[in-house]
Amino acid sequence: RETDLVARLGGDEFAIVLAAAPDAESSATSLARRLLQAVAAPYEIEGHEINVGTSIGIALLPEHGPDLDRAVKNADLALYKAKSQGRNAYCLFDPSIAAAAELQHSLETDLRTALAQDEFEMHYHPIVALATMETISVEGLIRWRHPKRGLLPPADFIPLAEDSGLINTIGEWVLRKACSDALNWPAHVKVALNLSPLQFRVGHLADIVSKALTETGMPPQRLELEITESVLLESSSENLEALHRLRDKGITIVLDDFGTGYSSLSYLRTFPFDRIKIDRSFIQELAVSTECAAIVSAVASLGRGLHVDTVAEGIETEDQLLLARASGCTQAQGFLFGTPCPAPELDFRTSRLSKRDGEAA
Ligand code: C2E
Ligand code: MG
Ligand code: MG
Repeated sequence: RETDLVARLGGDEFAIVLAAAPDAESSATSLARRLLQAVAAPYEIEGHEINVGTSIGIALLPEHGPDLDRAVKNADLALYKAKSQGRNAYCLFDPSIAAAAELQHSLETDLRTALAQDEFEMHYHPIVALATMETISVEGLIRWRHPKRGLLPPADFIPLAEDSGLINTIGEWVLRKACSDALNWPAHVKVALNLSPLQFRVGHLADIVSKALTETGMPPQRLELEITESVLLESSSENLEALHRLRDKGITIVLDDFGTGYSSLSYLRTFPFDRIKIDRSFIQELAVSTECAAIVSAVASLGRGLHVDTVAEGIETEDQLLLARASGCTQAQGFLFGTPCPAPELDFRTSRLSKRDGEAA
């Protein structure tokens, strides 16, 4: 309309100012829907079909103001929220969005000093061999003891650490801390650590790992590194090379959370993983969903064919344990064998569950 304004703010960012309307919220959201639809229609350029995605954030004046600057900032916060919901979405600002952004911001500031103030802790979670019910490996899981917010799980801060680049120094701390802890465990027990795909971007990950092993005196044969498929998704050739260098040193390379994400079988051919961990979401439904049972059996038999161990992640009940074993998984991890705990609380005597308890009927 004559009364509205469209402007390009820069790059691929645009602003639309709608003149006052009787029902501002519904006119803004209905325009947003029409825009998303219009822009999403495919364009044909020199014989190629081009698809353009849009994300829209909306703020109303005066309620999301009071001044224009504030309203633009709030529309921007809503835009980020829309983006996080995937392509072609719009989001209307509300105060909870600002509160969440504020929290993220303050956590990110705190994260910068957390290492220096020794606020990280490692908790450990056993992985048992189903044939013997013995702990063969222990997964290290980071926690942040925040001075005001208490013990935070990795989901609350790993994404922030990744965004801010702090993941590399935190990752190095995890390596050193877990390797020194593991030196106090029985020599046949390995330690498994999670790597963020971003840790591969530094370009010399294999050297960083070697240095941590040398400094702590940990033999590479006792270290396992867990990665997700996303590591193979981006700049694969460099990441593959790093993985090969790590594996050549004798380190075990584990594919974590298999079954979620792309689950491309070509990854299993691209790199000789030593172990596949079947994602918890499949194990949770094992007893109630024939689809999950079929998928777990199929991945276990894939593992057998490839001569790699398959771990059932997230075993919480005796039933799930029996079914995982019957499906052909060779190892298991889950709250049934204990929850993640600090190193001094680890118990390496044969698992509380006897071999008989875990055997399939
Ligand atoms: P993950 O590597 O798949 O780790 C397993 C997660 O499942 C852990 O959550 C563990 O506590 C939880 N879990 C294990 N068994 C059960 C069960 O029976 N039931 C339920 N409900 N949960 C179970 P946590 O510690 O919150 O870690 C979440 C994720 O954070 C990890 O998933 C891993 O991707 C990431 N993470 C943890 N530590 C690190 C780290 O040091 N570096 C990086 N980059 N990521 C880490
Ligand atoms: Mg893991
Ligand atoms: Mg996992």
